[in-house]
Amino acid sequence: MASIPATRAWCEQRDAADPLAGLRAEFTLPEGIVYLDGNSLGALPKAAPGRVADLVERQWGHHLIASWNDAGWWDKPRALGAKIAPLVGAWPDEVVVGDGTSVNLFKTLVAALRLNPGRDVVVGEAGNFPTDLYMTQGAAELCGARERRVDRADAAAIRAALEPGDAAVLLLSHVDYRTGELRDMAGITRLAHEHGALVVWDLCHSVGALPVELNACGVDFAVGCTYKYLNGGPGAPAFTFAAERHHAAARQPLTGWHGHARPFDFTAEYAPAEGVSRFLSGSQPLVADAALEAGLDVFAGVDMALLRAKSLELGDLFIAVTERAGLGLLTPREHERRGSQVALRHPDGYAMVRALAARGVVGDFRDPDVLRFGFTPLYLRYVDVFDAASALVAVVESGEWRDPAFAERAQVT
Ligand SMILES: *Cc1c(COP(=O)(O)O)cnc(C)c1O
Repeated sequence: MASIPATRAWCEQRDAADPLAGLRAEFTLPEGIVYLDGNSLGALPKAAPGRVADLVERQWGHHLIASWNDAGWWDKPRALGAKIAPLVGAWPDEVVVGDGTSVNLFKTLVAALRLNPGRDVVVGEAGNFPTDLYMTQGAAELCGARERRVDRADAAAIRAALEPGDAAVLLLSHVDYRTGELRDMAGITRLAHEHGALVVWDLCHSVGALPVELNACGVDFAVGCTYKYLNGGPGAPAFTFAAERHHAAARQPLTGWHGHARPFDFTAEYAPAEGVSRFLSGSQPLVADAALEAGLDVFAGVDMALLRAKSLELGDLFIAVTERAGLGLLTPREHERRGSQVALRHPDGYAMVRALAARGVVGDFRDPDVLRFGFTPLYLRYVDVFDAASALVAVVESGEWRDPAFAERAQVT
């Protein structure tokens, strides 16, 4: 990690020279707030309300059923997938939008298990996001498979878990939701393939935050949500990537009519569609798709290398300024091993996050002791991150988090 002159004057200079600075105007950001929770729910793109209103009032209200053809409703899952494809290093016909991340994990895990008969183990990581673990259990149960979890998702532990030669599939998160650690997608995918396993990567905390190269890394399947760094809106539908080489043989378990080869034949037997469309099941939430499309359109023409460079610099800045507060740093400092968030630790972290929110800085908390701060380079300025980090130092040094009101747990942390 390069050391940077973490002063407000330096931040002002960086903002003035920032090639991405203009993108902030694409978002609605409340006055007086520094929003460092875009890794959980991205901010509102200014175009989204108009897109939703157009869908509701014109496409639905006026054109009614004709919009399935005329407004491209039927093809929306593929059209949105094609907009995500360049962000993840995929071909446009390898990505489809639909359902949620949890459901898509289930579909891809079962498809991978079925593509690898004679093997009956799903290798995963103990610290993965809970829904990834739960869906692995559900998929394994359906397929008569077993789970094997590694405690740390490093190459040595993964190799040991793959070595028995019984692993059908390896599921990992590209960026750990708690620590913000970035995994070596190319190296781990190669390792899995060398041991005869397919891979499913969960991109929830990397898509839209850093360049992802699924095809260059030889990835088999991937899923990701769109309401975090893609700013698609609360509960926005997720996406599925399936490498083209698997399209003909992949069989996912939720065989609904939107994944049928000829849905309007209304035949009595299921026949999977040819491409990634076979990963669809039923009708999709088109109102939500309209908001998501506004989020995706912000990325058109954004240089992901520039985005990545700014994201890392914002992280460096936050780490440098908060060092004084003496909280534990959970996130790796090395750029190659860091996503777009910084996680700090303290047993009273929850109260600190709440006290910080009272100062207008929004981060979040994950049990047992993790303070999480996400950096969305599309709409954050260097001065925002400097001010937020300084506020955290002030909260810790002043002890204002000790106010009992800040210890009360809300339903969503
Ligand atoms: C946010 C997140 C999810 C969310 O799953 P949903 O089905 O959208 O609720 C899943 N996995 C990971 C790793 C996440 O970070």
